[in-house]
Amino acid sequence: MKILFLGPQGSGKGTQAKLLAASLRLPMFSMGQLLRDEVAAKTDLGSQINEILLSGELVPASVTAEVLQMRLAKPDAQQGYILDGFPRNEEQYQSFTFEQPTHVFVIMIPEEETYRRLGDRLTCSVCGYVTSTKLGFKKEDPCPLHDGGLLIQRTDDTPEAITKRLEIYEQDTQPVIRSYRRQGIVYEIDGVGSVEEVHQRILDALRTS
Ligand SMILES: [Zn+2]
Repeated sequence: MKILFLGPQGSGKGTQAKLLAASLRLPMFSMGQLLRDEVAAKTDLGSQINEILLSGELVPASVTAEVLQMRLAKPDAQQGYILDGFPRNEEQYQSFTFEQPTHVFVIMIPEEETYRRLGDRLTCSVCGYVTSTKLGFKKEDPCPLHDGGLLIQRTDDTPEAITKRLEIYEQDTQPVIRSYRRQGIVYEIDGVGSVEEVHQRILDALRTS
């Protein structure tokens, strides 16, 4: 099983990818994590990536492909893997030639739900703990972990920033999903509901695939 998770921000795809990885006992990775690991390992490639990141540039698809290919060659990925949020654009899709995914789960939520989920999100200014106004917290409340931090709305959770990221998803990621759909391996999952409900939908889709 070579499973990809795609979906707009706030869809909960990262959480679902992790849960499915635990259910299937498969390794799970995101491209961001793999790049950070490579930098931390201080390899030649890692220091190249570090320079690119420090300059504020995007890591080219040839480099992300190289990092991914090395990771997927490791023994623990030979029975399969779960990859969160990749490929997210046409260039990454074109570079992802060394593997053929078996399933692409697209977690779908209505746009209003994205605004609601992210607009309600509060993040601790010190530890990054994430909670929600729906759980009774307010902006500027002290962090429940008592670390002296305050709960703030991140600048990339403003409506303008959310709109921008949704546009990028529409422009860059939807074409990738269309390509996989033509291969007949896309499973659209309704992302509205509890974490457990959505997880069950994914297991059902997997069973009948
Ligand atoms: Zn905190």
